Amino acid sequence: MRRSALLILVLLGPMLAGCVAHVEIHDAVMGTTMKVEAVSRSMSKDELNKVVLEAIEAAKKADRLLSLWKPDSEISRLNRAKPMEWVALSPETYEVLVQALEVSKQTDGAFDITVGPLVELWGFGPKSATVPTELPSDEAVAAAKAFVGREHIVVDANSKRAYRDAEGVEIDLGGIAQGYAADQVLKVLEAKGIRDALVEVGGETVAIGLTETREPWLVGVRHPNVMTKLLTTVELKDAALATSGDYFNVYELGGRLYSHIIDPATGRPIANNVCSVTVIAKNCAYADALATGLMVLGPEKGLKLVESLDGVEAIFAWRTGKDAIEVKASTGARQYRLAP
Ligand code: AMP
Ligand code: MG
Repeated sequence: MRRSALLILVLLGPMLAGCVAHVEIHDAVMGTTMKVEAVSRSMSKDELNKVVLEAIEAAKKADRLLSLWKPDSEISRLNRAKPMEWVALSPETYEVLVQALEVSKQTDGAFDITVGPLVELWGFGPKSATVPTELPSDEAVAAAKAFVGREHIVVDANSKRAYRDAEGVEIDLGGIAQGYAADQVLKVLEAKGIRDALVEVGGETVAIGLTETREPWLVGVRHPNVMTKLLTTVELKDAALATSGDYFNVYELGGRLYSHIIDPATGRPIANNVCSVTVIAKNCAYADALATGLMVLGPEKGLKLVESLDGVEAIFAWRTGKDAIEVKASTGARQYRLAP
């Protein structure tokens, strides 16, 4: 290269880098934290900031529609409506219900948003003020389980309405809502022309393009036993990542740990030693729901399912003894440069 050209490059480099706007905003939604990072080479920092703030509103809207903890949400209204009474839904709520029902079919009912009565019975729902001091009876489990099953929700695609078929049916979108919120934020960013961004809601993450320094977005997956340690890092480009863990929302009773992931088949918190499942997929709502379902299915059935799916990878961790875990990833997970 001629010396003059080299000189221009040396001078232009920092100037070009100076044209990159980078914004990182932290907020709270759905009872958890959220983070949005966006990079733009055409917008000013102020413009980008405005776009990110607007995008964050999409997550807040999703919360207002889907939360079981808000009595006015569409889901709370659906859960209160008379059996068989059609309830009109926003396109967003309808979309989440349909995605959730699809994952339920795919996982053979391991993921099921009608687990609401069981989630409540085991002390993890909005009506449970404190941690239970005794385990529910077999009769109580059987009674709650009678209302669990995706056939209890009927949706109509034309009118975007839904109903529950019995009084005791309760929909709980806790296993998919955060991933959906992340997708919704990204959708707004993309509509505004952003090509490089990362959105994270309660650990459920979706990323497009590259970072400010043109590197892939690097996402850490927490170690199930040591909060400050990483199980792995994942390079996330144009993909979503969601993690379910037995360590998030858990209590001890009679010397045993009970986690918030319920096996709809037994009506009880999972007892399969699976401690975390991370799913990488195109869409974050899907990754979120599938991660919850795979916690129930376990590594053997779960990895078989993942290997049969296009564009889906997973990392399973399960407990093999006190402080000991085993980890297994699907064959294609390596493309995301898992480390260590
Ligand atoms: P996540 O952290 O995404 O795995 O979601 C866990 C939440 O999903 C729980 O707190 C419950 O509200 C709900 N949930 C628990 N078990 C299931 C299940 N088998 N299928 C669908 N949702 C579930
Ligand atoms: Mg989930």
